Amino acid sequence: MPTAYITHPSFLLHDMGPYHPECPDRLHAIGDRLISTGLDSYLTHYSAPAATAEAIARVHGQGYITTIEAGSPSSGLHFLDPDTAMNPHSLTAARHAAGAVVLATDLVVTGECSTAFCAVRPPGHHAERDRAMGFCLFNNVAVGAAHAMAVHGIERVAIVDFDVHHGNGTENIFSADPRVLMVSTFQHPLYPYSGLDHPAANMVNVPLAAGTGSEGFRDAVRNHWLPALERHRPEIVYVSAGFDAHREDPLAGLELTEADYAWVTRELVAVATKHGHGRIVSTLEGGYALSALGRSAAEHIRELIAA
Ligand SMILES: [Zn+2]
Repeated sequence: MPTAYITHPSFLLHDMGPYHPECPDRLHAIGDRLISTGLDSYLTHYSAPAATAEAIARVHGQGYITTIEAGSPSSGLHFLDPDTAMNPHSLTAARHAAGAVVLATDLVVTGECSTAFCAVRPPGHHAERDRAMGFCLFNNVAVGAAHAMAVHGIERVAIVDFDVHHGNGTENIFSADPRVLMVSTFQHPLYPYSGLDHPAANMVNVPLAAGTGSEGFRDAVRNHWLPALERHRPEIVYVSAGFDAHREDPLAGLELTEADYAWVTRELVAVATKHGHGRIVSTLEGGYALSALGRSAAEHIRELIAA
């Protein structure tokens, strides 16, 4: 069965200013690398639909959604926090970014595709139920996971987050929801300085010190993620795929390489194959060194294709 690659033109129009690291060229870096490696010809391309109001409202409060809609500027930038801004295209992009994960969910649950990668902007894992932050407006992976449970009757979901920053938004939305297991690694201390304050039982948060490389990351996955995933037996595995733990990334200090992203993806494929009919929905979060982002995402996608 094919691997879906889901994106949308609006993702290239969302732009938070000329020096912002979360920039449209990130998606070109991934797309160009997929073409140059030949992987693109193995992907089935889809255009992301806009998420419905109902889908977004499963994980965000109505007051928050109204605030985001009202914040959409007709020109210039409207700042939601010092790092997170909306231009006239951002609201459309945010709706399609969440919709990408909804479509990916439909494709893998119905069996039309086995795995999916959503090449989206803005990212989502810092967006809490009622707060935008950290470059994120709507929590894309949470919208997708909530859709799987509400519409497809999925009872056990895993969300895997290997972005270098803690996915505080996803934790905020699903904390103490026994249907959802979230496993994550993140550099600590580092923005957003969360993840260690008495996490709920369904949160497996593994902080890593600056300088941690392949072996420390792989030990965390083997010792903390995989046993929890084995106990949870997820029917579908979501990946908050941030590639900013790469050693070349300017925003953090972990020392991962492309080979680590390939390795962890193979481990997740094994979990999904054993428990979830091979279903994996991956969505882009961070990753700001453009060359490293393209190489890392391509190796991640190579393993999704091979699954
Ligand atoms: Zn990040």
